[in-house]
Amino acid sequence: MNSLHEHILVVEDDTQIRSFICFTLEAETYICHTAATAEEAMRLLAAEPIDLMLLDLGLPDLDGTEVIRRLRTWSEMPVIVVSARDQDKEKVAVLDLGADDYLTKPFSASELLARIRVALRHMYKQSGAKANPVYQAGELRLDAEKRKVYLGESEIHVTPMEYALLLLLFKNQGKVLTTSVILREIWGAGYGQDTQALRTLTAGLRRKIEKNPAKPRYILTEIGVGYRLAEERE
Ligand code: CA
Repeated sequence: MNSLHEHILVVEDDTQIRSFICFTLEAETYICHTAATAEEAMRLLAAEPIDLMLLDLGLPDLDGTEVIRRLRTWSEMPVIVVSARDQDKEKVAVLDLGADDYLTKPFSASELLARIRVALRHMYKQSGAKANPVYQAGELRLDAEKRKVYLGESEIHVTPMEYALLLLLFKNQGKVLTTSVILREIWGAGYGQDTQALRTLTAGLRRKIEKNPAKPRYILTEIGVGYRLAEERE
């Protein structure tokens, strides 16, 4: 799928960061479009064949939340939010509005490219025909047809709710999911704030699938944001 030259829109008002990102993207044969303001970004999104947007939250004219809100009324394209360390709240807000992932400044070229690959792969999967019903991360395997979970050769007995959590994480493998998105998907809209229930569920699942639950290899915690299933594959 990387044979296409994907068009990436970089929305960033810091010239140096913008150049660094474009330099990195172009070295990987992506086509880079740039905007320094939200207004410019909206104009390019309407005019160019953009496949993915990298969005800085601190823009001079509008905040990133508003850009996502507007974009999501007409497009499902992957959006990776780029934020400074002190913008945790905003970061969670844009993820809840439908951004796909985030990068915290400063980030490396390899981190940037890895996040882009995950987001694009996820997009192709969604738009592709039938998704493979067997998901895998290292030794951990979930067979969605049989509704079973395996670690290496052994079957792991999980509760229906643990299964639902793991399936949700696998369907979004490599992407961060915010606590409120997970709560909404698993418990339903009414349980929006019960983060303790999610922590308990995650801890129980980790005890079953992680060698060292205190240092998880599969279900990774994104502090202040939510969880991410490791991207690691066989
Ligand atoms: Ca900025």
